[in-house]
Amino acid sequence: MGEIADMMLGGEMCEMCGVPLDGEGYGAPRYCSKSCARDRGASMEQVEGWSKKPTQDAFLLSLAARLTKYGYTVEIKTPYHFRVNNCLDVYPQNRKWHDIKQNKRGEYEDIFRFAKQFFTAK
Ligand SMILES: [Zn+2]
Repeated sequence: MGEIADMMLGGEMCEMCGVPLDGEGYGAPRYCSKSCARDRGASMEQVEGWSKKPTQDAFLLSLAARLTKYGYTVEIKTPYHFRVNNCLDVYPQNRKWHDIKQNKRGEYEDIFRFAKQFFTAK
């Protein structure tokens, strides 16, 4: 595959018209405009500036804020890793948890229901 094609597929330029895009590609095709994305039948999330990441980070951080509101102590290590009440690590992106005191791990469906159960059982 040629270099240009690589750059297009890697998201460094518009995959439809070849316009260079700001920011780093993240290994997936991106588009300069909604009309280019539409011409390719691509999702609007692939349009430059519609990067999914900030939205996802904001969502994950809003979970931490809600946990705090419910009375938990939340230490935000990264948007993908919180420590709750100093003993439970939560990875909201993968819905996984890790009890750092007892070294147990698992997955949860709903972080609020899970946290309630986890701390009530103690
Ligand atoms: Zn384009």
